[in-house]
Amino acid sequence: MIYPKCANGKDQFITATGHVRPCCWLSDRPERNEYQQFECDKFDITKTPYDEIVNVHLKNWIDNLMSNPESAGPTCKTHCSAIADNLKNPLTKVIESV
Ligand code: SF4
Repeated sequence: MIYPKCANGKDQFITATGHVRPCCWLSDRPERNEYQQFECDKFDITKTPYDEIVNVHLKNWIDNLMSNPESAGPTCKTHCSAIADNLKNPLTKVIESV
């Protein structure tokens, strides 16, 4: 299961070329094939309004990740495969502490 920390809308990363990524953890290593999907016009702030990137394209990417967790890349599996404390509700924390 993936619990994307980027779903909070606060972790976006913008590259030097103006491409928005959901977070700064996605690797630039070509062999991991994680960042290339954001190297296109729909994530480029010089070609697409920032609001559209975040509220449409990035939201769709995160929604797809959550509904198809098996599609997650190695970085997402490493960083977001466990529930982060800030995503847990107080009841979950109480249940886990018992
Ligand atoms: S590692 Fe993946 S799921 Fe986690 S915040 Fe970054 S893009 Fe989102």
